[in-house]
Amino acid sequence: MDSIPKATPMLDALERPIHDLRISVTDRCNFRCVYCMPKHVFGPDYQFLKRSELLSYEEIERIASVFVDLGVRKLRLTGGEPLIRKDIERLIAKLAGIEGVQDLSLTTNGSLLTPKKAEQLYRAGLRRVTISLDALDGETFKSMNGVDFAPEPVLKAIDIAAVAGLSPVKINMVVKRGVNDNAVLSAAEYFKGSGHIIRFIEYMDVGNSNKWQADEVISAAQIRDIIEKKYSITPASPDYHGEVAQRWRYRDGSGEIGIIASVSQPFCGSCTRARLSADGSLYTCLFASSGHDIRALIRSGATDDELSTAIKGIWSARTDRYSEIRASQSVEIPKIEMSYIGG
Ligand code: SAM
Ligand code: SF4
Ligand code: SF4
Repeated sequence: MDSIPKATPMLDALERPIHDLRISVTDRCNFRCVYCMPKHVFGPDYQFLKRSELLSYEEIERIASVFVDLGVRKLRLTGGEPLIRKDIERLIAKLAGIEGVQDLSLTTNGSLLTPKKAEQLYRAGLRRVTISLDALDGETFKSMNGVDFAPEPVLKAIDIAAVAGLSPVKINMVVKRGVNDNAVLSAAEYFKGSGHIIRFIEYMDVGNSNKWQADEVISAAQIRDIIEKKYSITPASPDYHGEVAQRWRYRDGSGEIGIIASVSQPFCGSCTRARLSADGSLYTCLFASSGHDIRALIRSGATDDELSTAIKGIWSARTDRYSEIRASQSVEIPKIEMSYIGG
């Protein structure tokens, strides 16, 4: 990896540069989180992508390289559960070798992160992970993940990641009213002073499976209120343009938290993210209804120049700003599921 920009990033129709590519490596997951892959939809008969439909690591590397040439500097692997994909460290090594990549990270539920895996990931070139954890108490966490998985192994995975050098570890906690809002303070307390950074995420209406309702969202302001009842926090400036989390620092110097206000304070104006699904479709918004089939291009023999021209065409036509216009949507539109497109 190096830090020399290779190109002026291309701009979309609203003059937003491309900067991040999120790559979903699988649509499968061993959890059934209520807000993402609820059991009643993702049951035993659910048709996941077939092996032949998934992009190979070589195909992902090639697409990512073209994106980096077009201005992408951050790559994030996600899913589904990315650690389900066999030898994911092989892909990490390929992506870490692309000149121009400044940041390579992975989001995981932590359930499969053994010390050996963490070490392999680090050795392949991964430097950061985000681990999702929605509550510290077993009953609440199990009611969120849908598969009776206890929080202890995830807490252990967070330590394993830090020991392997994948730090600071970020922890994602989606807050859903009436389910885990009472777990916010204890989670903040647990990670305060640990060197890890917990980020509270407003529950979003991604996909159509979770039957999202606006009154189930605990807003960023409410999350802040919960924490401020006990601790004094002060805003910190963003690390970079387009950062999605609002950063807050504890006044006593014991670290920081993040709050992602995707619903109450949308940040479409600075959205620099493209998403590649596990089967090679390109999405220009998390809430898109359809994608652009990059896999078909690759498998029909397109050259890198042809891929680049196609991607430029897609990005330059991009006008997405779903979260800013959510409130004015009167009919529910079909949206792609988060487990497919990647978080
Ligand atoms: N399986 C991995 C994990 O859970 O970390 C990676 C994929 S998951 C789709 C990526 C992130 O999206 C997770 O942190 C998850 O909590 C978040 N997420 C999923 N559905 C969400 C929703 N409806 N609203 C807000 N965040 C959501
Ligand atoms: Fe799986 Fe992650 Fe979705 Fe939970 S949020 S169901 S762990 S993909
Ligand atoms: Fe970006 Fe779409 Fe989310 Fe807006 S709604 S921030 S355009 S992904």
